[in-house]
Amino acid sequence: MLTGGCLCGGVRYEITEPLVSANYCHCTRCQRRTGTAASAQARIVPGSLRIVQGEELLRAWRPEDGAAKYFCSVCGAHMWSQDPSDPEIRSVRLGSFDGDPGIRPSSRQFTAYAAAWEPLPDDGLTRFPERRPPSA
Ligand SMILES: [Zn+2]
Ligand SMILES: [Zn+2]
Repeated sequence: MLTGGCLCGGVRYEITEPLVSANYCHCTRCQRRTGTAASAQARIVPGSLRIVQGEELLRAWRPEDGAAKYFCSVCGAHMWSQDPSDPEIRSVRLGSFDGDPGIRPSSRQFTAYAAAWEPLPDDGLTRFPERRPPSA
């Protein structure tokens, strides 16, 4: 069982299945959202996340052309993104886990838009200039 939550502790979740995959996203939207050069997140098995506490604190930004971005309305912590067509498909921000999420990012996507002020690390991860293909 994996557990995690937001910065203020109001929102808590648990995940009952091992994570599917993880990656870094360097898109401009993730830079704005996180205030950093990239966002690290993991895809979950659909339906494996349960909000244990603080569901009423969650807010989402829903862009017209992408996944909803959920965050805690009290502390602003980023929690996960949610597929607009199936809310059970989520990518949880790795920084929100309590301990080791048991997975490591395997790729970097949208590297064509990487921040000018932070060079891409030479870590051997697969780089995708645009979105990571669903099969990767
Ligand atoms: Zn919070
Ligand atoms: Zn992104």
